[in-house]
Amino acid sequence: MNSNSDFIPVSKPYLTQEAKTFVVDCLDSGWISSKGAYVERFENEFAEKCGAKHAISVSSGTAALHLALLCLGIGSEDEVIVPDLTFAATANAVILCGATPVLCCVNKDEWTLDVNDAEAVLSDKTKAIIPVHLYGNPARMHEINDFAKRNGLSVIEDCAESLGATLDGRYLGTFGDMGCYSFFANKLLSTGEGGMVTTDSDALALKIRTLRDHGMSTEKRYWHDIAGLNYRMTNIQAAIGVSQLNVFDEFAKARSEQEALYKKYLTDVPGVIFKRVIKGAIPVNWLMSLRIDEALSGISAAELQGILTEHQIESRLFFYPLHQQPPYSNERAALKSTDVLSSSGLSLPTFVGLSCEDIQRVCEIISTAITNRQRSLSK
Ligand SMILES: *Cc1c(COP(=O)(O)O)cnc(C)c1O
Repeated sequence: MNSNSDFIPVSKPYLTQEAKTFVVDCLDSGWISSKGAYVERFENEFAEKCGAKHAISVSSGTAALHLALLCLGIGSEDEVIVPDLTFAATANAVILCGATPVLCCVNKDEWTLDVNDAEAVLSDKTKAIIPVHLYGNPARMHEINDFAKRNGLSVIEDCAESLGATLDGRYLGTFGDMGCYSFFANKLLSTGEGGMVTTDSDALALKIRTLRDHGMSTEKRYWHDIAGLNYRMTNIQAAIGVSQLNVFDEFAKARSEQEALYKKYLTDVPGVIFKRVIKGAIPVNWLMSLRIDEALSGISAAELQGILTEHQIESRLFFYPLHQQPPYSNERAALKSTDVLSSSGLSLPTFVGLSCEDIQRVCEIISTAITNRQRSLSK
């Protein structure tokens, strides 16, 4: 922990007093493992919140993605389309199944999967597609679903960064066959570590529940029809989850007000570009993310990050494109477009408890840095 009071982290969880009460309840009652009332309650309330028929809690977002792929029977002969710009877990889950992640370009303005390029990488082996609602921005689910339907593909939505975002009034995660969520400490809802799979399919839900619990029959204890994993969430994690759901709407509102403030202060700063949101979509502000067009600002995202660090403000560069990294390495020319997007992206502090003054300070440092650079360049 940084003890300096001027330091602003890029993200931190906000835990309520109720979280403490619920956790103490787990400890007092002895229900600390994956059985207990909070697990069922969290699953039921989460399903209801998202408008999904089933919600199955798991130990992480990666576990959620892995189980979603496994329950579809995806294996070694199969290919799964994933966006080139995402957190690596999206592709890792595919590799964990023995299948091959096939990288697809992302739209440079929306930062989400480009369906035209998905068309280009489609093959006889393609079985599924995993759109990612990156930085809380809804992907083009209608086009993606049309494409999947035409080609007999399953759709798994990676909602790790988009809990609470909607498209045409419906929560993300309910458009595909399954939605996968993460509750890591820096996500929109946190249980420390944890995740969830949502689905409307009774058959998929049963398969996920079984695979999550060693493959054990849900009717006959200690009987296994299939070999599974232990990806269960604990009652303690679920207790925190229930407390977080109770304040979720309030927290999401605070985050969106922070976004509005950032936009207000940065909107006329040369070279600062916000993401484009598709028609009918309401994003969620997971991390206030923007692009720095160096041709207009005179400064790169990485340089700006350095200046923010000098002022004790933590920020985050965008993910490295998967195609550049050894496990997913891919030379396809079209993927070069992700390089520009990735290297120009910057995420700024966003968390419940961040003050208006903090946001103003961050924005002033950015606009001063850009103004100074432009002045020195025009000399
Ligand atoms: C965080 C994240 C994950 C993985 O979740 P974990 O809970 O850390 O396993 C997967 N996909 C995306 C897009 C993420 O941001």
